This record gives sequence, structure tokens and C-alpha cells, in this order.
Amino acid sequence: MSLADPIIGIDLGTTNSLVTICDSTGPRVIPDPAGRALLPSVVRYDRAPDGSIRAVVGHDALAQAPAFPQGTIASIKRLMGRSRRDAEAELPHLSYDVIEGPHSTARARVPVYDPGARDGPHEWIVRSPQEVSASILSELRSRASAALGAPVQRAVITVPAYFDDAQRQATRDAGRMAGLDVVRIIAEPTAAALAYGLGAGLSRADGRERTIAVYDLGGGTFDVSILRITPGEGAGEPAFFQVLSTSGDTHLGGDDLDQSIVLHLLSEAGDPAGAALARLAALPGDARARLVEAAREAKHRLSNEHAALVRCELGPGRALEATVTREDLDRLSSPLIERTLAACAGALRDAAPALEGEPLDGVVLVGGMTRMPAVRERVKRFFGLDPYAGIDPDQVVALGAAVQASILQGARRDALLLDVIPLSLGIETVGGAVAKVIMRNTTVPARAREMFSTSVDNQTAIRLHVLQGEREMAGDCRSLGVFSLRVPPMPAGMPQVEVDFGVDANGVLTVTATERRSGRRADVQIVPNHGLSRDEVERIERDSLAHAREDMTRHQVVDLVTNSRLDLKWIGDRLARYGSLLDDASRASLAATADALRALVEAADADWRSADVKALQAAKAALDRGSVRLQEIAITQSLREGSG
Ligand code: AMP
Repeated sequence: MSLADPIIGIDLGTTNSLVTICDSTGPRVIPDPAGRALLPSVVRYDRAPDGSIRAVVGHDALAQAPAFPQGTIASIKRLMGRSRRDAEAELPHLSYDVIEGPHSTARARVPVYDPGARDGPHEWIVRSPQEVSASILSELRSRASAALGAPVQRAVITVPAYFDDAQRQATRDAGRMAGLDVVRIIAEPTAAALAYGLGAGLSRADGRERTIAVYDLGGGTFDVSILRITPGEGAGEPAFFQVLSTSGDTHLGGDDLDQSIVLHLLSEAGDPAGAALARLAALPGDARARLVEAAREAKHRLSNEHAALVRCELGPGRALEATVTREDLDRLSSPLIERTLAACAGALRDAAPALEGEPLDGVVLVGGMTRMPAVRERVKRFFGLDPYAGIDPDQVVALGAAVQASILQGARRDALLLDVIPLSLGIETVGGAVAKVIMRNTTVPARAREMFSTSVDNQTAIRLHVLQGEREMAGDCRSLGVFSLRVPPMPAGMPQVEVDFGVDANGVLTVTATERRSGRRADVQIVPNHGLSRDEVERIERDSLAHAREDMTRHQVVDLVTNSRLDLKWIGDRLARYGSLLDDASRASLAATADALRALVEAADADWRSADVKALQAAKAALDRGSVRLQEIAITQSLREGSG
């Protein structure tokens, strides 16, 4: 069966990417003409004979990487949607230059190789992570178009569950640059669950929802997510997937184990432990690469065999020969597995309020490293469950993306996706406080609106500052964007600005502001200029807990100061205008009450920490009470003036 306008699934991975399709036979990987499923996520730029710049993507770029060390771009996913500063920790792991582009974004700076200009000077170009990812996506798109015999224009792309708004937006933009309409972005663990059909066939009649863990151990990263799957309302209705928590380590994986095996091999071959490290460092680059490759091959063989003999040429006349056994591997991998299980415990802890003491219903294995028997065994023991491992762990995420694509295509109706907003979204209010509009952990799609006004007379432009974070003050949150809404001049407090936050099913944010009296509207796209790493998300959460009390007080003081100022201004204006209609004693008493509040406001404004919140509240209330008569007079007079 062929689909008109098919939607493909794409796993855009840090190391490898895949493209999939779901037809009447179910989801399947679309291989390249050589029959290879994986496309290495590696890109190089060459000068073509016609002078244009051509992207070399995948196996060729990877195989030729040693010849083009500075110009080969790998692991670009680590820079997606992030600022140069956010990406700092990644730099030691990358072989190419990363510079700062517009809006502080991280960009790759690489030479363009010109085969015509032997050893001549190379021109350098700067590419955004979106553009580099687009080269990978284009390759997958043409692979799919050729295999399906129809142009492919739509795709579902997977991203890590902890990807924030900016990172998802960047992934979406990469898709667009590759000529793809990204109809949905879904979390990788959700895709893995879909591939196993874990959302299918659930019904309300079965009772409670299911919760599962997705354990994803790849070459360079480890992620664990706890998901909840809720059955739809009625029979055949789609189920909901919700990411309850995530944890992991963006620099932990099979590569670390390969290094330990290399050191083991060197010491088996006669080097004492310390000397092995020195010897490894002294080896020429290509010999070291061969040794790592030999270690990896031995690791793979040991998934099926009990011992592996390794032979590796280290240089002219120098060969290394050693044996690694399953027992050796178990010992070497133990610390790594231990670290992943500690992260699993953390994810379970974070999801505990939602789990309410109920045990998990399943564990899904993702990533090449979960082929290792030791990993499977330890994960099984930790969760007390036989993991789902029937589907190729390198393909399971991509296959799930195809399942989601077929749901969107209308071919299946058995699952719907639901992810959560990782950090609260809000807007800056007067005095630098933050009004949260959408709270963290709200499921997407989400929509919320808040009313705001002005604090200064005759403002003609209202500045709206959109923020992400858990803290109470704007300076402590992450700025996502600033825009302004033009309004006709009005007294302070009169404009009614409705700010509407919408997060679509992909977790992408759009903010709209409308002034209700004038009907003026600003439709703003928030183009986030940088993203957050998982570490940062964690730090932000920790900070918000640590500063919760202090932040609350500060927010309270700022609000009190702002509102008191508005009151004082209003009363000052009315006193100037209608004060003569009050008796002398009332006028003097009102002025004294206002002075008392003003003194407290000024002190609080100078130093919020020493502000006396109770005294401020009392003084403000006293002014409210003391100005009742003045308000009555003002209303009567303005009615008279209006009718006169
Ligand atoms: P991924 O990043 O998901 O492609 O995972 C790649 C990692 O899985 C690398 O460290 C591989 O060496 C490892 N891997 C792949 N196949 C096997 C296998 N059969 N046994 C053990 N590890 C494997």
C-alpha cells in the first residue's frame, strides 16, 4: 500500500539518525540503498565543482572524519537551541569551533573543503545547529522519497523528553529548512512506548492507568523517563501519554565503557594499571582509534559470547593481543550501570507523588548498550520487572515516531500524546516580579490567560517580557523574548491587557497580547534565542526551592510597593482637585496617612529585605479607609462635570 502525502517518522539522534514509515504492515525503518538503517549524524561541507557548497552527510562524512578533523561536525544535537554560553560544557567533547552567533546562539565554524585547491587556504563558514541538522534531515527525507516513490513533505520528529521550548523550536526550524512540515514533535521515551503498542488496547474498563519506565543507554548519553499512559474516555478512544519525570546524564554511555576496556586490554598485555593510561596517551591518534574500535567490537561480541580475543596493530611491528571475558566486562561496566540506576532512583523519586505507591507496569529498553546482558540483568533486578526488549533498541524510538505519524495520518486512533511543560512560563510585571501564567508540569497543549494593566499614565507602548523559570523575580528567570504592544494613551490602570499563552502539542510557545478597550493586538511569536540544558533545569528547580521564601517576600513587597504607589498617585490627584471640598481635619488626616505610607514605600523600594510587610499592608489599608470620603466626592463631582 502506498500513502498519498505520507508522514515519515524521524529519530534525529546525537550519534545516529533514522527514518521510518508506518503502512498496512506496521512501522518499519527505511534503509539507504546499501541497506543500512542508521545514518551517522555527521556533516561536512565541501566546495562542489560548480562552486556551490555541498553537505557531505552520514557514512562518508564519518569515514573521512580523520582526514578532516576541524571540518567534521558531529553531535550537533548537543547545541540545538542553546546559547554559546549554555554550550560551554560541551566544547571539550567537540572537534570543531563553536562561536557565538546572533542572540548569543551557539554556531559551528568550519572550513569548507575544496578538493580543487590542494592544501590551499580553506574558506571558513558559520552554520547554525538548525542548518547542520537540516542537512541530516534532508538526507533522510530524500532517502524516504526515493524509497516510497513519492515526495515526502511531512514528518514527526523525536526529541529528548527534557528538551525545552527553544530546543524543540530549533528542531522544528531544522525540519522546515529541510523542506519538511514537522507535524508533531514527540518525546523519545513516548515514541519508544508507542513502538511497543503500550497505549493500544487500554480501556477505562481496565481500571487505572499504566506507568512505565523508559531506560535509554546509548553511546554517549543516558536518559530515563517515567511515563504515565491513561486510557481514553471510551472504547477506541486515544490514550494519553504523559512524561512524569526524567533524569539522566548527557555524558554517560557506551563510549565510557569502551575507554575502560581499552585500559583493561593494555594492562592485560602487560602494562601495570597506571602505565596503561600513560601508554594510551602516548599512542598516535590512529592507533588509539583502532584500539577503541577493537575494544568496542569485543564489547559487542561479549553480548553473545563468553570471551573475546582482541588483536590490534599499534604501530609497525607492535601488536597488542589480549583476552576479555564476560566477567571482566561485568566488572568494568559495573560502575557505569550503577550510575544509571542511581538516576533511575532519582526519576522514581520525582514521579513518586504521581505514582502514589503503585508499582510500575513495565520497563522499556532503548539504546545500543541495552543489548549488553549485564545491563539487562541489572535493570531487571532494579525495577523487579522483565524489560520490553523485543524491538531493536537502536530503532525503537524511530519506529514509535512512525506509529505516531500513522495516528496523525488518521490510519490509527489508539494513542494521543501528552507531554509536560518543563518550567513555568510567565510575564514580567512592575518592579521586576514575575506573574506565572502557565505552571511547570502542565500537560501540553496548554492555554492560559492573565489580565494586566499599566502603572504609569499615558503609556503608549506596553513592554511584555516573557520568562521561563521557577523563581519569583525576572532577573532570576530565563528570558524567552520581549515584545511591545502599542496602546492609545490612557490613565494608569485603565488599559486592560489580556495576555494569552498558548503552548501547542509540540511544546512550542506563542504569546498574544490584546488591549481590550482599544482592541489593539500584538500577535507575537516567541522565537526563543537559547535553550536550557537538563543540568540547568535541575539547577533552576533547586534554586527555586532554596529561594522560595525569600522570593515570596520579595514578590509581596514589590506588589505592595507598586499598588501603594498607584493609590498614592490617585489620592494625590483627587486631593489636588477636590481637596477643598473636605473639611480641614479630614484633609490633614488623609495627608498624614498618605505621608506615612509614602515613607514606608520609599524605604521598601530602597531595600526590599528590610521592608516591614505588615506595616506596609496596614498603612495601605489605612489609606484605603481614610480616603472613602474623598472617593465619594470625586465620583459625585466627576458625574456632575460629565453631565454639566
Ligand atoms: P546508540 O547511541 O543507541 O546507537 O548506542 C550505541 C552504543 O551501544 C555504543 O556504545 C555501542 O558500542 C553499544 N552497542 C551496540 N551494540 C551493542 C551490543 N551488541 N552489545 C553491547 N553494546 C552494544
